[in-house]
Amino acid sequence: MTFIPEDFDASSWENIEPYVDDLIQRNLSCSSCLEKLISDSSNLAEHISETGALLYIGMTCDTENETKKNDFLNFVENVRPKLSKFSDKLNRRIAEHPSVGDLPDRYDLMIRGIKSDIDIFREENIPLGVEQTKLVTKAQGITGGMTVEFEGEERTFPEMKAFLESNNRSVREKAWKSMVSRWMNDSEELSEIFDELIKIRHEIAKNAGFDSYTNYMFKAMHRFDYTVEDCLTFHNSIEKVCMPIVREINEKRRSSFNLEILSPWDVNEKSGSGPDIEGKNPLRPFDNVGEMVQKLSELFHKMSRDLGNKFDKLVEMDTLDLETRKGKAPGGYQYYLEKSRVPFIFMNAAGLQGDLETMIHESGHAFHSLYCGHLDLIDERNYPIEFAEVASMSMELLTQDEWKIFYDNDDEVNRAILSHLEGVVFLLPWIATIDAFQHWIYANPNHTREERTEYWLSLRDRFGSKMDWKDNEDFRELSWQQQGHLFGVPFYYIEYGIAQLGALQLWQTHRKSPEKALKDYENAMKLGNTKILPELFAAAELKLGFDEKHVDSLINEVKTAMAEVR
Ligand SMILES: [Zn+2]
Repeated sequence: MTFIPEDFDASSWENIEPYVDDLIQRNLSCSSCLEKLISDSSNLAEHISETGALLYIGMTCDTENETKKNDFLNFVENVRPKLSKFSDKLNRRIAEHPSVGDLPDRYDLMIRGIKSDIDIFREENIPLGVEQTKLVTKAQGITGGMTVEFEGEERTFPEMKAFLESNNRSVREKAWKSMVSRWMNDSEELSEIFDELIKIRHEIAKNAGFDSYTNYMFKAMHRFDYTVEDCLTFHNSIEKVCMPIVREINEKRRSSFNLEILSPWDVNEKSGSGPDIEGKNPLRPFDNVGEMVQKLSELFHKMSRDLGNKFDKLVEMDTLDLETRKGKAPGGYQYYLEKSRVPFIFMNAAGLQGDLETMIHESGHAFHSLYCGHLDLIDERNYPIEFAEVASMSMELLTQDEWKIFYDNDDEVNRAILSHLEGVVFLLPWIATIDAFQHWIYANPNHTREERTEYWLSLRDRFGSKMDWKDNEDFRELSWQQQGHLFGVPFYYIEYGIAQLGALQLWQTHRKSPEKALKDYENAMKLGNTKILPELFAAAELKLGFDEKHVDSLINEVKTAMAEVR
């Protein structure tokens, strides 16, 4: 019998309260009582997490539905604050228990996290957290609702991406400008929300006794295994290693297009994607979501029976919402339903190669969740983000050999692989940009908007290519707004960089021995959150590193692989 009944409804505090009271008040004098307390609270946490997940999913699938939005906000405002208070009490019961030191080793990581959470917990930060979530939801509503009238139809931003790959430069320019002008209509409100968020976040840090939100967040995010200095080293390594290649690729694009200088509608600064430089038709790996799913099943079965079966399980469970439509929040994510132990995948597919990569990425997260689904406690399954993204980013690289399922000829497959590898080289500087921007923002919480713009532009120069921004400077100054992480999940971004370096190493193994790479993948993923970050890396025979030499050796192999498909 589980502590919480199977059909429990965790959407209201009234329902949760009796269980919480039990956990806080029960007698803990027997020898196994502490372990039972941990396991029962994990059971409760699974139910609450799943309820929160379903409410979030409901809202992001339908951002214009007021009821769904209110249901989610109600949970955020009424359940989560009481929950934080309860978690702190529970944490203290566990950490301060006289026999906590006698617990088996499997609890070590959990106790480390609990102690850190106790250190930073302040009751006065609870309402600030709620305020923060409300502002983030407001920003998401604004960006998710953006559409443009283009070629006689109302289109979502993900749908507009197809026009940015058009070989007709004036179509691209028109598409880009229509999106930018739509964005600029709301940019002032987004800036105001962001100003507000910075203020709240700095206050949260101060309340918890920190001089900066950066240091507070390193502790809150349980970044025990790397430092602020490591992040700065990472920025420098990326600048030195990747920027010459990025500039070279852009230069090639410029000369192929016979232009004086590239414009923002000739190449996506973040991903390096754009129209084909030889004027070939844009890659269209699938016509509809059904086709994408069916071919991906085939692809994963070709890689291994295990991955194939795992993917089919996702389809069977019917927890995929993949097609883009108006009112759906932008982007893609995988959300693990902790009670049912089922991964949910959300994305905005419109038939592009990038969409295929997103789906493979999110499938990697889902595989990770399935690999560690056997672990008992929610905490043991709650793998660190830095490693979560190894699961997803490596899957993008490891599947490359099988992309031929989606294309009629080798030329298209090679183009897809080349553009993906270029994307890897482009994304790292973008990650450095966003991370460096956040470090600056929270180190200087009282900055003016002018100073923020100035710093942002300096980063764009450091991690960007020469481009013609004439007449579009106002958008360039605010282009950070398009990175939703800055609003919703502060400091969450360097994880992609740390993970990409891990994913590239797994891919290096895969280039020599696919079987070994998949075995390494499985070995590490099934550990969930039961090892510290460097050990998770080591379980897949990867090194956790930030230095230039390490980055250089990985990017060199990317260069080799690019030459193979060119
Ligand atoms: Zn991811």
